[in-house]
Order: sequence, then structure tokens, then C-alpha cells
Amino acid sequence: MQSSTVTRRTALATAGAAVAATGLASKPLRAQNKTDVLVIGAGLSGLNAALLLEEQGFKVQVIEGRDRIGGRLLSLRDIPGNPEAGGNGIGSGYGRMIDTVERLEIPMLNSAGRAQITPFELYLDGERISGEQWPTHPRNILPEAFKAFSPRLVPLVLLRQTNPLASFEDWYDPKSKPHDISVYDVFKKNGFTDEQIDLTFNLNVSYGTSAHDVSALMMWFNDGWVASMEGGPPTQLSAIGGNMTIPETMAKALNGEVHLEREVVGVRQDDGGAEVVCADGTIYKADHVVCSLPLPVMRYIKFDPFLPSVMSKGIAMVPYFPMTQVHLVAKEPFWEADGWSPDMWTDTVAGHVIANRHNIDNTDVTSLTTWARGFTALKLDQVDPEEAKAWVVSELERIRPSAKGKIEAPYIKSWLRDPFAGGDYAVWEPGQVTEFLHAVGQPHGRIHFCGEHTALSNRGMEGAMESGERAAFEIMNI
Ligand SMILES: Cc1cc2nc3c(=O)[nH]c(=O)nc-3n(C[C@H](O)[C@H](O)[C@H](O)COP(=O)(O)OP(=O)(O)OC[C@H]3O[C@@H](n4cnc5c(N)ncnc54)[C@H](O)[C@@H]3O)c2cc1C
Repeated sequence: MQSSTVTRRTALATAGAAVAATGLASKPLRAQNKTDVLVIGAGLSGLNAALLLEEQGFKVQVIEGRDRIGGRLLSLRDIPGNPEAGGNGIGSGYGRMIDTVERLEIPMLNSAGRAQITPFELYLDGERISGEQWPTHPRNILPEAFKAFSPRLVPLVLLRQTNPLASFEDWYDPKSKPHDISVYDVFKKNGFTDEQIDLTFNLNVSYGTSAHDVSALMMWFNDGWVASMEGGPPTQLSAIGGNMTIPETMAKALNGEVHLEREVVGVRQDDGGAEVVCADGTIYKADHVVCSLPLPVMRYIKFDPFLPSVMSKGIAMVPYFPMTQVHLVAKEPFWEADGWSPDMWTDTVAGHVIANRHNIDNTDVTSLTTWARGFTALKLDQVDPEEAKAWVVSELERIRPSAKGKIEAPYIKSWLRDPFAGGDYAVWEPGQVTEFLHAVGQPHGRIHFCGEHTALSNRGMEGAMESGERAAFEIMNI
């Protein structure tokens, strides 16, 4: 390993600028001993990179801004059933995740048979519409061929029918550029009206904020990736006690330290080494850096020298979509009182309401989660979190009288407002897959980038693992 030639003067200059930017200029600077690799971020991608590098004999340290391990895996251990506020289900194609939990002997549960065993019922303008009523209901304005489908399934069906990719991995081939169009355009080409697009996509988005700002190419990749896992036995794995156990166990398996509450504000490198500067003035030194920071966080990190311009543009422009969850506990099972499903698809600030069944032995509803995405999440984010929780509860009580006085809301999570995430995950806008996907994962001298947004062949947790593996391989030079 080369020894560092980053001088104290240049280190102080970098640290000083970065620290001053955070208003913490009066804090002392503390330089730490040099290591082989510094990994920024103790989420799945960073920890996977760290474990793989240690296996190959590298000395690794991890720097994490939060006071906990896991990043966008967040298990709510104070709520019955330990629901997830972050990454939920691990599918059959999650090879790296499954291999990791097996190697680390993390007890898992297959909840495929129990997850959402009752159908979503629609609540539009305060009216409950059951699955049987929907196909012939006056509010069903869908094209004849789609009338039987619940609105939320229509985009998935349409995208499956129109998917032009021979293999889902073709999405990152530059030849796929003509398909990097908006979901809106796909709807329009297939004869949907704006009203139909509003009902099926925009009212309760799954990605982005509207059909205009989501790349169909990303959605077709997603569809092909999901399809590649279909056909086998239903698999929806989660860790007993919550998925956060997975990164926590990964961190424990490391020999190197994981430094919590070290918010990184700058990364500097020269011929001799790299330095990572934290808001509290601590400086870490290494030969290589693995940066797993989400793009919205990277927007505020000072890289010296600057990152290449296409990469900087990608960091500035690729959006992470707004997502706000409210976690509810029912004092009494109000769905038994009215006989309707606890799973609801609403046009209120509650968005999708999903009943969690996280008991090992039975199918009881342990808690409920309201999933607000896009503009619905933004509405909730505009008010105080306590007010937002009360708003969700009052809306549910309005559309579901049996729920009146029966729901408590112990927890709210806005991923957009989370300063260590800045949104749920990367949702590529039309044209952005072609322009930025490769650029945001390119190494920059001694800095290697990972995180779900840099994954090419997988999404979500498995994408994060894939990206950490790729960054580790870059450092191993294989
Ligand atoms: C609500 C929700 C539901 C999801 N559902 C699923 C699902 O069902 N299936 C699936 O596969 N995936 C799902 N995902 C996605 C999955 O959770 C993520 O893709 C994955 O956890 C991302 O891992 P990562 O390592 O890329 O990023 P992160 O987990 O975000 O790791 C980055 C780390 O960097 C840290 N950090 C940030 N800023 C700083 C800083 N300045 N200094 C130091 N450290 C910093 C963060 O705290 C974090 O620990 C979901 C995500 C969310 C939010």
C-alpha cells in the first residue's frame, strides 16, 4: 500500500472549508490513523463492500452518519410485529442477500403466503368499492380491456404487455435509448386518456410523482427483473425481528470499526491517498474510499478534485421520490366490525394502507402501514409530523367509520425529509437512464461508488448488494 502524501496543510484546507460550510468551524480537527479502505455509509451496499474487502485481506473502516446501522433498512422494534419502515421483502432472485443471511446464520421468515392475504379495496371520494363491484362500477373509467383490474395494477399490466426489452439487463445498453421515454408516453401510445392515467398512475404513484417524470425504460427493467423471479415457490423473505438485523449482523462480522455519528462532508484525494472529512472535524485517511451515499446526500459533499461533469450533473438531477409512511396500531380489529378488508387503496393522504401480518404462527394483523408516495407524501411532509399522523388517522376514520377511535399512530417516517437519504430511492426520469446510469457509478481516482442507484442488474436491497460487490472488485482490481 502507498503511504499518504496528503499534507497536513491541504487536509486542513479541505476540512476547514467543509467544516465551515456546516457551521462547525470551531470544532477541533482530529486526524485518524490511515487504513486501506474507508467505506462511507453502513447500509447494505457499504457493508457488503466492507465484508468482501476484509475477506481479501484489506483493512477496512466504515463511517456512518446516523446513530444506527442499516440506512434504508429500518425495522420498528417498538411496534407489534416489528414492521419495516424501509426495505421489506427479499425475493427468490436475491442471491447475494440470501447467501449473506445464510452465511451469517440470520433467522429468516418466508411471509409470501401471509403478506397481504386480503385484497385491496378502493376508496374513492369517500366511497368504498369492493373488487366485485369495481369492473362495472360507474367510477371505473378504464379502457374495456383493463376494466377488471384494480387501478393500481393497470400500469404493471400495460408495462408487461409493452415491454420491448429482450433481456431486462438491456436497459443499460445505450441501444435502449429510444425506450428511455416517459411512462406517460407509453400510456398515450396505448390509447389512455389523461383521466385514465391520473386514476391508474398519478393518483397513488408507485414511483416518482407522476407518469411524466418516470422513465418507462426503468419500469421495463423493473418488470423484467420481477418477472425473472416469478414461477418458483412464492418467496418473500424477511429477517425475524426485522430486516435491520441483516446489516447489524454484517457490521458485527467486520473486524474493522464502524464509526457511528460521523457525518461526512468532504472527500479529498491526491497521488498519495484519500481523506474523508466529517462535520465534527474528524479526518479519516485511506488508500481507497468506497462512497455509498445516496445521490441527494452527495449533492452536499465536497469532492476535491471535483467529480466529472456528467457525474455531477447526474448527482444533481436524478430524483429520489418522496415517500412518507405512517405506522398504525389498531386498538380493536375494526375490519372485523365492518367485514371489509384491512388493505385499502385510497385517494386520501393515507395512500395505500397495508395490513402487516408479522406473527410467525398465524395470520393476525399486527399493525398497518399507510404508504403515501409522490405528491401525497409531499402534502404530509408540509405539515408537522404529529399533525400529519393525526391527518392520516382522521382521513381513515372519515372513509372507514368502523375505525373511529380504534387507531393509534405511533410512528411516521418521511424518507424525503431524512437528511441521510433524501428520498425513498432513485427513480430515473425519462432520458436519465441513458445519460446518467453509467456515469454515477464510475470510479473517480481512489473513490469508488456504490449504492442501489448504481446497480445495473438488480434493484432494491439486491441492487445495493450488487453495487457494493462491484465497488469492492474495483479496489481488488478484478
Ligand atoms: C420505504 C422503503 C421500502 C423499500 N422496500 C424494498 C423492498 O421491499 N425490497 C427491496 O429489495 N428494497 C426495498 N427498498 C430499497 C432498499 O431498502 C434500498 O435499496 C437499500 O437498503 C439501499 O441500500 P444502500 O446501501 O444503497 O443505501 P443506504 O441504505 O441508504 O446506505 C447509505 C448509508 O449512508 C449513510 N449516510 C448518508 N449520509 C451520510 C453522511 N453524510 N455521512 C456518513 N454516512 C451517511 C446513511 O445513513 C446510510 O446508512 C425500500 C426502501 C424504502 C425506503
